[in-house]
Amino acid sequence: MAGSKRRPYADDCIGLHVEAAHRDCARIDWNLVRPDVERMRVRDHTCDCQPVFYELCQAGGQRCIRRTTRKGGRVVVEESVRTAASRTDILWSLLLRGDAR
Ligand SMILES: [Zn+2]
Repeated sequence: MAGSKRRPYADDCIGLHVEAAHRDCARIDWNLVRPDVERMRVRDHTCDCQPVFYELCQAGGQRCIRRTTRKGGRVVVEESVRTAASRTDILWSLLLRGDAR
């Protein structure tokens, strides 16, 4: 169990957790959105035990990643650029590994 202590997650978490961003990771362009405007299908998501969590969303034939940030009672929702499912899926895996943020 030594070594797992640095992961600040609740013991009963079952969700995905993003790895800490690597110093030279790719930068995702995040655009502010109003989450109530459009319902999208959530295909995958990270654990919401964290103040920032991510969702892999589908809208029509396109996908994007949504980032939800909770700060002092405020909730900020942003989206990556919508693009082909295959491209967004790659971005999603980079994000989880800490290679994009
Ligand atoms: Zn968690």
